[in-house]
Amino acid sequence: MIENAPTSPASYAGTEGEFNPRLSAEARLDTAAQLLGLDEGIEKILRYPSREMTVHLPVLLDDGRIEIFTGYRVQHSIARGPAKGGIRYAPDVTLDEVRALASWMTWKCAVADIPFGGGKGGVICDPTILSPGELERITRRYTAELHEFLGPDVDVPAPDMNTDAQTMAWIMDTYSMHAGHTQTAVVTGKPLELGGSRGRPEATGRGCMICTDFAVKKLGLDRNNCRVVIQGFGNVGGMSAKLMSQAGYKIIAIVEYDGAVYNAKGLDIAALAAHRKKTGSLTDFAGGENVDREEAMFLETEVLLPAAKENVITAANASRLNCRILTEGANGPTTYLADPIVDSKGIFVVPDILANSGGVTVSYFEWVQDRQGYFWSEKDVNQKLAEIMTNAFESVVNYAESHKVNNRIAAYMLAMDRVAQAIKLRGIYG
Ligand code: NAD
Repeated sequence: MIENAPTSPASYAGTEGEFNPRLSAEARLDTAAQLLGLDEGIEKILRYPSREMTVHLPVLLDDGRIEIFTGYRVQHSIARGPAKGGIRYAPDVTLDEVRALASWMTWKCAVADIPFGGGKGGVICDPTILSPGELERITRRYTAELHEFLGPDVDVPAPDMNTDAQTMAWIMDTYSMHAGHTQTAVVTGKPLELGGSRGRPEATGRGCMICTDFAVKKLGLDRNNCRVVIQGFGNVGGMSAKLMSQAGYKIIAIVEYDGAVYNAKGLDIAALAAHRKKTGSLTDFAGGENVDREEAMFLETEVLLPAAKENVITAANASRLNCRILTEGANGPTTYLADPIVDSKGIFVVPDILANSGGVTVSYFEWVQDRQGYFWSEKDVNQKLAEIMTNAFESVVNYAESHKVNNRIAAYMLAMDRVAQAIKLRGIYG
């Protein structure tokens, strides 16, 4: 049994569980399983991660001291293919968070209908105080500890919060040194020079925009008259802001951990990115005004796009949302206790496992290209991404309408049904 695994909805009811992403993930799983009428045994398989690993990594710091860093890798499901999912570096990483993120990867890959299961990894560390050399040594030791559980047919990591193409290059190199030959397909989100895919850095943001476009159309809005508030100006938020402003959306506010910037006429995203690069912060930008970062999330806007972290829309603040569309760029930005409040406000939700699936979709393209040794043009990548996102969006929304459930539960039901079918066809070994 998993430690503290809830066995019934009663065990996560209440506010205490609200901020535990695993309990949030399980609450939705329970609802979807019940509505699907899932066989009890299959439901158990979907609930429990297939493999969880904890590693303690001795790493030599620049000052000569040895520090031990704790890392996790959870493979939630391999029913539809190798485990797939990012690795995040942050001081507050927990095993429960990694479990939730791994299960979301399973559902995300199933919603996008790509042949992967779900996995996720994390290392408890503070990248802001570690040198590039220290980060490289942590990454290499983490990979070495886990190398027999990784591989193109086994588990394929990718970047997540505070990890990037360079981190993936270190993982690829370390894994390849152990394998005795270069194996590019072991990770995705790599630099282009090492078998990365064109269009990967933009993919998650592009997918968020494609979904938002569909939602805008569905509500009879026009994107040239749509205001957007984005939380997070990293890979997902930054790329969404760039692509959406180029497409005609008016990005009126960006919220970061150290402040928020607002311009009713729309922010110049390229200038804001240059300002942040120069000063290290979004604040005091000449093309906008500083606003309160908590309040900015509740500005009147057509689209709210959280793209930073989990648990930002909660039972305590959801009633203050002032948007028509909620596009969840981040994983788990809305808690399960906030779901009914968001629904009661009539907000059109593009749930995380659909909205941000563009990233893993182009990761899948990268894996395919690496294995073929044949690389596609950016135009081809973007076109194939648009096809997959269109199918995924339409499948979820049609499912929601035909089963009279909200978009989030529809996405879970669709995904869980696909994974359940794979499990049934394979049978239970042993
Ligand atoms: P990132 O590290 O590139 O960017 C995150 C940004 O959010 C940073 O600029 C950070 O300063 C900011 N931030 C952190 N805490 C904040 C807070 N409390 N308030 C406001 N801003 C805050 O990470 P990313 O890759 O863009 O990932 C963001 C989210 O999207 C995560 O939930 C991640 O799991 C999810 N996601 C990422 C990808 C991907 O391809 N990168 C794919 C799917 C989902």
